[in-house]
Amino acid sequence: RNTLYVVATPIGNLADISERAQQVLRSVDLICCEDTRHSARLMDHLGCTTPLLSLHEHNERDRSAMIVERLQSGQSIALVSDAGTPLISDPGYVLVNHVIDAQLQVVPIPGASAVITALSISGLPTDRWRFEGFLPSKTGARLKILNALATDHLTLVFYESSHRIEGSLADMAIAFGADRPIVVARELTKTFETVLRGTIADVQQAVAADNNQRKGEFVVLVQGVATEVVGIGDERVVALVNELTAIL
Ligand code: SAM
Repeated sequence: RNTLYVVATPIGNLADISERAQQVLRSVDLICCEDTRHSARLMDHLGCTTPLLSLHEHNERDRSAMIVERLQSGQSIALVSDAGTPLISDPGYVLVNHVIDAQLQVVPIPGASAVITALSISGLPTDRWRFEGFLPSKTGARLKILNALATDHLTLVFYESSHRIEGSLADMAIAFGADRPIVVARELTKTFETVLRGTIADVQQAVAADNNQRKGEFVVLVQGVATEVVGIGDERVVALVNELTAIL
């Protein structure tokens, strides 16, 4: 009671919903979702009859106060997004903060998120990485951000949509160099799941050659700039040792 549950839903394959998520969605008084028609399909699939209420970027501020009131009156409410984990490039930030400010409970029900799913199979370093979400749609603003990331050592992760994938890859080739290793993970967990690995130039070619490679949803992962490993035999180390020996 008096609890907001932040519930992850599948990013494609409907079997990827946890048992706990299903229990919570059935037991709460209300489910807040981005698009009621979209979430109704998942609820039908789960046999869940809990009422749905839309909560998106345009009404989140107004609806949050009402949702807090309902929580204070003893109800429990779930927040889901169209796919994956709420608040990850999706609404919920405003609501979660309203609930925290009202000193009510916020409980996570974890599950799928495209960023983690893509990282887990990318083959790129996952010990440290940087999530950049969606890039701007206009090439000027996009290049500005990409240029600022060009010397980053961390694996860079971006979300991308079908109508922008080619433009973003072209700008990445300019900012990072066409020979930078990249992974494009498309339609994860869905029928046409594809993972392209290679240099940016390789992947650009593969995307240009096949219409289907431009369809669907994408996670783009770019290898960070390699950290230079200086070995004991490196001429700069030898020179430094010689210099130090001369001083001593
Ligand atoms: N909240 C979601 C999550 O936790 O991953 C992300 C929502 S965001 C509005 C949608 C973007 O996530 C898509 O444009 C795409 O970049 C990525 N995405 C979602 N599902 C995906 C999938 N099945 N395969 C690849 N990327 C996906």
